[in-house]
Amino acid sequence: MKKTIALVAHDGMKQQLAEWVKKNYKSLLDHKLICTGTTGKLVNKTISENNSESNELEIVRLKSGPLGGDQQLGALIAEDQIDMVIFLCDPMTSVPHDVDVKALIRLSSVYNVPMALNLSTADFLITSTLYGKEYKREVKDYTSYVERALIEK
Ligand code: PGA
Repeated sequence: MKKTIALVAHDGMKQQLAEWVKKNYKSLLDHKLICTGTTGKLVNKTISENNSESNELEIVRLKSGPLGGDQQLGALIAEDQIDMVIFLCDPMTSVPHDVDVKALIRLSSVYNVPMALNLSTADFLITSTLYGKEYKREVKDYTSYVERALIEK
């Protein structure tokens, strides 16, 4: 079952993501990868240098995170286009697009999208028995919120 997997890493975490991708690229090859701009460049380079398989890598690069890439990814989550997010946030560095990062984490919660914010969770996700299978995420029914009364009588 082909999944669409988002990969994002803050600058301070890019080296670690590259090492993780190098270790796990075989598990990523059969899936579609969506990355923020600079992360995508690194992921593409890392997989190209290590890929001995003949599989084509499907990778989409959004804008760089601080230039709107996180928001583009958030929009894809809201449109049910993303199955899993690996977002290596740097806990020791503040970033100019902190609000976008928070929004992305929030949207993953709203739509119950599996999200790893660190490498050990990424390891758990990629080795899960559900990883290669079809998985129907339960998403809360927000109808009553959408149809709430806006004007008090
Ligand atoms: P980048 O963005 O991959 O373009 O560096 C990552 C981020 O959201 O900080």
